[in-house]
Amino acid sequence: MVSVGIPRALLYYQYYPMWYTFFHELRAEVIVSPPTTQVMLTAGSYRVVDDTCLPVKVFVGHVLSLIGECDYLFIPSVRSVKSKVYNCPKFLGLPDVTRAVVPESPFILDIDVDINKGKRELFKSINKLGRHFTRNQSKIRQAAMLAWQANLDYQQQMYRQGLTSPQGIERMSGGPATEPKTGASQSPSILGTIAVIGHPYLLYDELINHRFIQRLEQAHVRVLTPEMVSAEDRESAISKVVGEAHWTYEDEVVGAGEHYLSRGIDGVIGIVAFGCGPDSLMMDLVRRQARLGSTPFMSLNLDEHTAEGGMATRLEAFLDMIYRKRRQRACASA
Ligand code: SF4
Repeated sequence: MVSVGIPRALLYYQYYPMWYTFFHELRAEVIVSPPTTQVMLTAGSYRVVDDTCLPVKVFVGHVLSLIGECDYLFIPSVRSVKSKVYNCPKFLGLPDVTRAVVPESPFILDIDVDINKGKRELFKSINKLGRHFTRNQSKIRQAAMLAWQANLDYQQQMYRQGLTSPQGIERMSGGPATEPKTGASQSPSILGTIAVIGHPYLLYDELINHRFIQRLEQAHVRVLTPEMVSAEDRESAISKVVGEAHWTYEDEVVGAGEHYLSRGIDGVIGIVAFGCGPDSLMMDLVRRQARLGSTPFMSLNLDEHTAEGGMATRLEAFLDMIYRKRRQRACASA
């Protein structure tokens, strides 16, 4: 059986169930790289220039870990999935960058995803991808349809059941069994509710974020993430802040941030990768919105030098501030 490797990084968290379904339907074995390790991060960092953002360094580390493990690597170039809304340029060049910095990688299956070129072009690209596995066009078409349905189910499941991406992936058939579980939302002794916003590849990579979400849960905080907001709610929140979205990630940063702020939560934490251009603008918008409503906001920058101790200290200080605020409110209303 032919095997396809998928790096557990970047768009994996958004699209894994869809990708898995497509390749599985075409009778390919899907191999996902293991969770990020320090060795992977170091190896990835050596292959790219210093000022590359942390998630791309992690991605390259995952690619390196799949060498010798699979026949093909799947690395799509996702330009746009919504009309006139574009992805960060790093995603556009990902297959070419990978070929350049990891010349020994398995053959890269890439596909251009740009909805602005029309559905016909997209189907042509999907068909070209599927022809690596079968010449039967109707099989490819059916695999694509099932994959799209898996994607819709995955997104809806996270929103309806309040799941994070790793939990959603685990619940979908075929998800890797090594994902972390979160569960504080069911805890009976919740001390506060905090929205954690940012890209899923920052929120759910436990090596680079030092188990940030688990730390919050251990502190009996209910954690809300961008996947738990419906697409409609995020869009309407974006329109309040910026009018029309132009960046794909305005959704999960500005949209989710504004949505949670308008619901009156205890605080917002924005997770940003050092050197990320789009986030430097978008997270600032959320910070301003939080200030308007006097909601505590903290932005955490991640890079390969982020120390676990420093992260824990900042988190404790932020939680102290939130608890103090709650106590003051309770005293004032008593
Ligand atoms: S959005 Fe930011 S963190 Fe993500 S790939 Fe682009 S530059 Fe890197």
